[in-house]
Amino acid sequence: MGAEKPAQKRDHIGIHFTCCNVYGRIYKNAAGKAYVGWCPRCARKIELKVGQGGEGTDQRIFQAY
Ligand SMILES: [Zn+2]
Repeated sequence: MGAEKPAQKRDHIGIHFTCCNVYGRIYKNAAGKAYVGWCPRCARKIELKVGQGGEGTDQRIFQAY
């Protein structure tokens, strides 16, 4: 994926999986409307809608509950 680009069109976000207290990344799905990923430890599925407090903010790490 190479270098980080400035905010606007990033296709992944950093996320904190609170279930296992680990950090990871989740990526936009094919439709581009949500970020989807799985906890690297327990494989719990995470889904976060695009625009849900994420886009247009400086926040880069989200928490998954
Ligand atoms: Zn987990």
